[in-house]
Amino acid sequence: MQALDDTSVAPRQADVLSHIGNTPLLRLRAIDREYPGVEIFAKAEYFNPGGSVKDRPALNMIREGERLGLLHPGKTILDATSGNTGIAFAMLGAALGYPVTLCMPSNANQERKRILRAYGAEILLTDPAESSDGAIRVARRLSAESPERYFYADQYSNPANWRAHYDGTGPEIWRQTGGRVTHFVSGLGTTGTVMGVGRRLKVYNPGVRIHAVQPDSPFHGLEGLKHLETALVPAIYDPSVIDAQMEINTEDAYDMVRRLAREEGLLVGISAGAGVLAATQIASTLNEGVVVCVLCDGGDRYLSERFWESEVPPGGWHI
Ligand code: PMP
Repeated sequence: MQALDDTSVAPRQADVLSHIGNTPLLRLRAIDREYPGVEIFAKAEYFNPGGSVKDRPALNMIREGERLGLLHPGKTILDATSGNTGIAFAMLGAALGYPVTLCMPSNANQERKRILRAYGAEILLTDPAESSDGAIRVARRLSAESPERYFYADQYSNPANWRAHYDGTGPEIWRQTGGRVTHFVSGLGTTGTVMGVGRRLKVYNPGVRIHAVQPDSPFHGLEGLKHLETALVPAIYDPSVIDAQMEINTEDAYDMVRRLAREEGLLVGISAGAGVLAATQIASTLNEGVVVCVLCDGGDRYLSERFWESEVPPGGWHI
């Protein structure tokens, strides 16, 4: 084992990291013209190099782990994730020289698994019937069995998750709206986005309303979001940050995803569709306001999903 102060094993630096955060805030003009007096903006998190909102917390968890001496060369980054956090860790691990092991349900989407393998991450598939909670249990067991081998990032319990949004996403939204934001809405996965952005916006202006989006049923297609009533509740979740809970139906979110592609030119993921739909529901109750939602990831990761099948002509593609 090499000594920690041996510079030959110091963590690598990588330019790609400097492009995480500072994402664009887009006005959804085709959507918000139905709500006179209300502006709807979307934080386009798929502009992050790993393609999602999760680059921010993954980088912060790594940096915090290094600072605390829990992560250093020789250790493997471990977490439970069915998608975007895994991609972020896989990308960052490759860039910084850390091996990455990810636990995920075996029914996780194909594109995701291929992206993870492309970055060289190890994937441990868990029982699909137990969904992301099953993956969490396996990650906990591995870390308990081999603490010297793994840095268990534990995104569901790690405060560096929500702090990435408290220090980054929240201030960016405040600045990009010129302090005019009145409502913020986003989905609950690990809950890091809503906890971090919500807390920060309330520091700037306690009157900002924070809305959280959940699927309307335990069996849903809103990838990345949790139905908290029937799931393991993340340790970082604090319901007092949230002013209103909203439930979104999967088919309705699909419709909004298609609409965003056709009317705004934005090809986004399903939770993004759910977030924009929730933003329109908030807008419909207002005479004036500035509503901000989050486009958590891009649509290219979902093109093999059933809801895009309707775009394929009967009998396939012909010239
Ligand atoms: N949407 C997608 C596509 C995600 O991957 C995630 C992360 N699980 C979320 C929304 C929710 O974000 P958070 O974990 O910050 O609650």
